[in-house]
Amino acid sequence: MKERKIRWRFRAPNRVKLCPVCLSPLKPLPLTGYILPEEYYCPKCGYRGHVALELVDEDEE
Ligand SMILES: [Zn+2]
Repeated sequence: MKERKIRWRFRAPNRVKLCPVCLSPLKPLPLTGYILPEEYYCPKCGYRGHVALELVDEDEE
């Protein structure tokens, strides 16, 4: 009997948003992203806004 390999393709957006001020990870503000563009806040320096640096993890097979 041959073993069948099942592969789950996970295409989750593996994106980390970084604070443009202090480069720490940003947290998305609740209740944004529905009507308004997503807004983020930085717990470290208090930055809040729509601008976020995106760190994209590229895993190519
Ligand atoms: Zn910050």
